[in-house]
Amino acid sequence: MDYDVIVVGGGAAGLMAACTAAERGRRVLLLEKMDQAGRKLRITGKGRCNLTNTNPLRDALPHIGSSTAGATNKPGQTGGVWLRNAYGRFFAPELMEWFEQRGVALTVERGNRVYPSSGKSLDVFLALIGELEAAANVTIRKNATVKSIETFSEGDSRQATAVVLERGERISCRHIILATGGLSYPTTGSTGAGYRMAADLGHTVVEPVPSLVALRCAERLPQELVGFQLRNVELSVLDDTGKPLCRHFGEMTFCDDGLAGPIVLSTSRIVTRRLNGGNAPLTASLDLKPALTAEQLDKRLLADMDASGTRVFNDALRLWLPAELIPLALQQLHIEYYKRLHQITGAERRRLRDWLKGVRFTITGTHDFNEAVVTQGGVSLAEVNPKTMESRIVKGLYIVGELLDLDADTGGYNLQIAFSTGHAAGEAV
Ligand SMILES: Cc1cc2nc3c(=O)[nH]c(=O)nc-3n(C[C@H](O)[C@H](O)[C@H](O)COP(=O)(O)OP(=O)(O)OC[C@H]3O[C@@H](n4cnc5c(N)ncnc54)[C@H](O)[C@@H]3O)c2cc1C
Repeated sequence: MDYDVIVVGGGAAGLMAACTAAERGRRVLLLEKMDQAGRKLRITGKGRCNLTNTNPLRDALPHIGSSTAGATNKPGQTGGVWLRNAYGRFFAPELMEWFEQRGVALTVERGNRVYPSSGKSLDVFLALIGELEAAANVTIRKNATVKSIETFSEGDSRQATAVVLERGERISCRHIILATGGLSYPTTGSTGAGYRMAADLGHTVVEPVPSLVALRCAERLPQELVGFQLRNVELSVLDDTGKPLCRHFGEMTFCDDGLAGPIVLSTSRIVTRRLNGGNAPLTASLDLKPALTAEQLDKRLLADMDASGTRVFNDALRLWLPAELIPLALQQLHIEYYKRLHQITGAERRRLRDWLKGVRFTITGTHDFNEAVVTQGGVSLAEVNPKTMESRIVKGLYIVGELLDLDADTGGYNLQIAFSTGHAAGEAV
């Protein structure tokens, strides 16, 4: 059988691309290297799949970054801007409608995060794969690993002509959608093959690094802290001049060698690129009392010290800290354990205040791709048409999903990127 389009990779982006192309009557071949498609999709959102976010477009865009655009997280400079065209046609409302029309009821939760009401990511996957399995114009091949893409030179430009499978089989087609994902959670099938294929064809690939990932720190953390969760705290990352690079409020936890949990993952998006660029270690500053100014906190410490003057310091720390944090405080504050509160000097009190407003950790690295929720870096956006996802280097080749140099905060933004770019390519082929 001849195909109008071959989709390489059956993740969120590839499945949506295949559905969109098939709906338009295209004959589609979906090639998935694993024995099942959508493995990562099925584990998203802790098995619940936070498929998108109902934030309006202008609020969503700053959550998306790309180093191609030289961007950090500044509105007007982000990967979000690049996505405007695709999002203009297929964004959260359209995505939600797409699933609802296919029988997947959706629920909006805290932070405008959208989940299937069943609480099962499987339902999201089944809606996509069910559509493809029911279509007469779609062929799905599993255990089919694409090794390379062949091209043909036409004057100054090149045209995609075929995919070559690992066992040597060659399948010709003039429209190929590359949707092989990034490098994170490689056991789901995303082992970075698409970066190599894109680079072999002459694309610039911004070095992929782990993102939305735990941070390692130089300090030895007391054992009591491992797994301990903090709520309503604020984490900032400072560069070597002390300038804050980002600030996130919420929950975090500690792991054997550093910091983890929601606000740490968000912070990691800024950290990962800097550290991998060989920059000096960064400092994380944890504000344990974000609701109080330093002045207000100082007043409270003074009042507490007056009221409980005979309490010894290491016991009195319970006034201001959960017990699990006390060993760390004692380790870092260098205040005599058994001093009574009325013996604490003004300088010591201010040291305690500053510590509570900014516990410092030296960030030396991140955990690896096995634990990273997404990959930062990828195929340069400058080489991909933002309307169609077609490569500007190889005609007929479309690049979608996490393979692109785009990454976003948690909250459903990453899957929206995959679905919207997949949809744009499916519309264009
Ligand atoms: C644990 C976890 C939880 C997450 N939760 C959320 C969430 O709740 N919300 C959210 O927005 N984002 C979430 N993400 C991120 C989101 O899952 C990804 O951004 C998204 O799945 C990327 O989609 P993709 O189609 O580009 O790549 P993938 O989903 O990785 O799909 C790529 C597919 O290509 C196949 N493939 C690879 N190489 C080849 C080849 N050579 N030949 C053929 N096939 C190939 C792979 O087997 C795979 O099926 C989560 C990620 C993880 C790891």
